[in-house]
Amino acid sequence: MKSEAEEVSLILKAFKFAACKHRDQRRKDERASPYINHLIAVAETLWTIGGIREVTTLVAGILHDIIEDTDTSFEELEREFGAEISSIVRELTDDKQLPGPVRKRLQIEHSAHLSTPARLVKIADKISNLDDIIHSPPARWALERREEYVIWAGKVIDGLRGGNEALERYFDRLFAKAIQKIEHEKKSRSQTT
Ligand code: ZN
Repeated sequence: MKSEAEEVSLILKAFKFAACKHRDQRRKDERASPYINHLIAVAETLWTIGGIREVTTLVAGILHDIIEDTDTSFEELEREFGAEISSIVRELTDDKQLPGPVRKRLQIEHSAHLSTPARLVKIADKISNLDDIIHSPPARWALERREEYVIWAGKVIDGLRGGNEALERYFDRLFAKAIQKIEHEKKSRSQTT
């Protein structure tokens, strides 16, 4: 068991590590927000909405995109943060060699087989992404692309339910809101054309 001070140290270390590794990366919204905003949102969602207090899950949340999107290797991750966190991140890492549609299909297929910490991070990740789609959508994404993403995210989450009711309920609310907003925009688009 880690002491509270050790846990806080590990979380701060993870934020510093992620901020450094993702420093040149931006989100896809119009303002090209710093990527670290997404990782802060995921950790905060786990803590506040999910009530998650396990430090390994919180740290895995902060580091969940580090292999996929930066030059970090699993060896480096394990050296810095230990085998447990590195293995959760491994579960959450897509094989970037595969084409996008295959990776998307595999996320749906794999979601039922994830460990509990990986499930929790996955829901918090999709919550952050849906929140962005609603409030600051990717600048270059047409309505259809947004709709496709939301529906796909719903399928991924449907495969991993049963881990944390509060997170799932929050996701469902955001999902409904995103669909509603897209439908609304579709309607107003068809009225103006
Ligand atoms: Zn993410």
